[in-house]
This record gives sequence, structure tokens and C-alpha cells, in this order.
Amino acid sequence: MHEQRDYLTQLDAAIGDADHGTNMDRGFSSVVAKLAELDPAVPPGKVLVAAGSTLVSTVGGASGPLWGTALRRAGRSLGEDETFDGAGLAAALEAALDGVVELGAAQPGDKTMVDALEPAVRTLREQVNGSATPAGALAAALAAAEEGMRGTVPLQATKGRASYLGERSIGHQDPGATSTVTILRALEHAVAAEQ
Ligand code: ADP
Ligand code: MG
Repeated sequence: MHEQRDYLTQLDAAIGDADHGTNMDRGFSSVVAKLAELDPAVPPGKVLVAAGSTLVSTVGGASGPLWGTALRRAGRSLGEDETFDGAGLAAALEAALDGVVELGAAQPGDKTMVDALEPAVRTLREQVNGSATPAGALAAALAAAEEGMRGTVPLQATKGRASYLGERSIGHQDPGATSTVTILRALEHAVAAEQ
């Protein structure tokens, strides 16, 4: 997120208030600091809950509560288990998406992070049910997120700050859909490295 900061801020400068990169970088830098304080034996679900709470308390923009809720819901879905499989990961990401939609009320086509997250979660579930490996399923989910992200360019924003621009939001890629791809890419790399 730190590497993507300036790019995300540029995207937000076009259709928002030029803070998405700094918001996400500040939030995830705080998450990294928080993780260093946690007992290494803490299970993945608890790590995600702590990360989500940190995002909520450190990011002022819309993305803080949205990603904070997403990670907390994903963490609660994983629960106390020490490990998780592809089905567990799909359920966690479904819970994350549900949290984002409950909080922000955006649907696919509104030109938000949901345009990247929803197809990724749907693809992950299909792949896992179709007996793909977790790494293979995530690679397909990432490709779906990237397609969704690129698909935000011709859309008119109807949620969040970009919606104030009306038709002038058309022709720009949504910053939140872009950072969603960054997060999913990190997840895909982490799982591929595990395998
Ligand atoms: P702010 O808009 O408060 O400045 P950010 O710039 O950090 O916050 O985040 C903007 C991103 O948040 C948008 O690009 C969009 O993807 C996402 N977003 C905004 N509103 C919503 C919503 N209601 N539901 C889902 N995502 C949203
Ligand atoms: Mg912004």
C-alpha cells in the first residue's frame, strides 16, 4: 500500500479529494505496527479483527470504516481456528463483502471498491467449490478483481465523494477499486508463497 500511495492519491485527485493513497498508507502502516505488538500465536481471525479495528481508528476517509469492517467481518468468520482452507477463505471474503455492502450500500456498477471485490469473491467461491487449489482460486479471483477495477473507468459514480461529480466521474478508474486489487494481490502472493 505504501508503494501504491502516490498512484492511489492521483486517482482520487481526479474524482475525489486526493487522499485515498495517504489514507490507505496511514491505515496499513498502523496495522503493521499493531501486528508487531501482537502475540505471534494469535490466530489469523484475531489478527484480521485487530487489523480492521486499527483501520477504523486511524483512517478518516470512507475507506477506513469500509476496509475496517471488511477485515473485522473476515476475522470473525475465521474465528479462533489456527489455520484455514480455501472454503474458509471464501467464506471470510464473503463476510467481508457483506460488511462493506451493509455499511456503504454500494452495488456493482456504482463505481466503488465493490466493483473489484464482488467479482473477486464470487470467483473465489466458484473456484473453491470447483476444487481449485487456494492459490489457483486466488489467482482467478485476482484476475476478476482487475477486470472489475478496469470496468470502473466508463462508469458514473453513484456512491461516495466521486458521485458529487455526476457525469464528470466518467472516464476515471475508481481509487477504492484499485486499492482493493492491491490488497487481493498481496493475499494471492502470500497464499502462493505458502504453497
Ligand atoms: P473519501 O471518499 O472519504 O475521501 P477515500 O478517498 O479513502 O475516502 O476512499 C474513496 C473510495 O472509497 C472510493 O474510491 C470508493 O471505492 C470507496 N467508497 C466510497 N463510498 C463507498 C460506498 N458507499 N461503498 C463502497 N465503497 C465506497
Ligand atoms: Mg478521498
